[in-house]
Amino acid sequence: MSVTGDYLGMELAIDAFDQENLAYFRHCAAGAFHLQRCTACHLLRYPPTTACPWCSRPDAVWAPVEGRGTVHSYAEVHHAIQPAFKDHLPYLILIVELDTQRGRPGAEDALRLAGNLATAGGELAPPELVAQVGIGSRVRMVFKDVAPGVAIPLWTLDETADQPASPWRCPEPSPASSPGPDNA
Ligand SMILES: [Zn+2]
Repeated sequence: MSVTGDYLGMELAIDAFDQENLAYFRHCAAGAFHLQRCTACHLLRYPPTTACPWCSRPDAVWAPVEGRGTVHSYAEVHHAIQPAFKDHLPYLILIVELDTQRGRPGAEDALRLAGNLATAGGELAPPELVAQVGIGSRVRMVFKDVAPGVAIPLWTLDETADQPASPWRCPEPSPASSPGPDNA
């Protein structure tokens, strides 16, 4: 059965044939993050898909995975393309490198997930939280319900982790380089 849900007023839909994504988001709704583990080479994969990206074999089992990691990269959005995000500017889109399977199978490989920065309660992060997070920040996964039995994973600052003294953030443009009222 296909599923439709709502996130910030936007309709989300998962087709009935998309068994991998249905299972993925249902695990999130149960508050237990899972990824597919290949039964041939035993590596986890992301995003959910029908074949292993490492050995091309189709068979996999769903395995629990700890939702903790480090911000690998991010984008801070100031002009919403989706109207639904307009009331939440600025917001962060994070690429988070999971602790699990980091550096495997190759030294540069890792499971890297995209997701918004949120509060511990799963709401999009307010500006003061957005300003604290950058590359190197330690984050943990939280879930936002979008339909019965379906939730999406988001990220919030990991309160239990040692945080870098100053996570890398894109430098702000200097005041001289932006037009003000006097030189507009
Ligand atoms: Zn495999």
